Amino acid sequence: MVSLVGAGPGSPDLITVRGLDRVRAADVVVFDALIHPDLLAAARSDAEMVYAGKRGYCVGSTLQETINDLLVHRARQGLRVVRLKGGDPCVFGRGGEEAEYLAERGVSFEIVPGVTTAVGACAAASIPLTHRDVGQAVALVTGHFDPDSSDCTIDWVALAGMSTVVVYMGLRHLDRIAAKLIAAGLPADTPAAVVARATLPDQVVIDAPLEDLAARVEVAGVTAPAVIVVGESVRVRARLLSLSTSAAQGVLA
Ligand code: SAH
Repeated sequence: MVSLVGAGPGSPDLITVRGLDRVRAADVVVFDALIHPDLLAAARSDAEMVYAGKRGYCVGSTLQETINDLLVHRARQGLRVVRLKGGDPCVFGRGGEEAEYLAERGVSFEIVPGVTTAVGACAAASIPLTHRDVGQAVALVTGHFDPDSSDCTIDWVALAGMSTVVVYMGLRHLDRIAAKLIAAGLPADTPAAVVARATLPDQVVIDAPLEDLAARVEVAGVTAPAVIVVGESVRVRARLLSLSTSAAQGVLA
């Protein structure tokens, strides 16, 4: 049996109870970059720990095949295998592909969901992913591909019509992603934010109008992993922060 387990967005206590149970019981843990060391430490001391290398969704095919083969091989040895992935295994995590690979070879699998970064980062940054008056649709988008290349098949006009857009793997292309959204009809002053190292002690949040965000992020020297959040609901963050500051002051007074 192979468990495809979501580790959550960063902080080790944001894994699910079921996910942690699977890690503790595993004979083999195959893990990605960005998995918190405390989660790896939860595995049995005699468990085989295999680092699956390069970050995330867009690993090269050779490496992906090696990982897939290893999962099959260990499962066929009768071992309990955990494939531990950041966030949710099936949100830009290749969990679906790995599940298909296993199923095609008759290896049983389960998917243990995780808190995906969009959800974790917005919670940690006080941005409601949907908000009563401002959100009827949320889009989760990969910003991995150069927006000006033919690999990028994003429909920018459709995206500009969403209430909230969360872009994963897009920090490198932030300036062009912002430009594409604005060219597709989003007002240049749409509230937007970058949340880096979300839910971890050194989390950074930069919020700025969409047209200024890339420059602000560059000045601040923000580095990946980070998500970009665009939409009116980002405006709620400032309101929540000022209200909670005054609430805290009220307690002190
Ligand atoms: N399966 C994961 C996403 C993997 S793709 C999930 O459900 O969240 C990798 C991308 O996730 C990174 O490029 C970044 O955009 C985002 N990411 C992962 N961890 C993050 C963190 N702690 N803070 C901000 N973004 C993060």
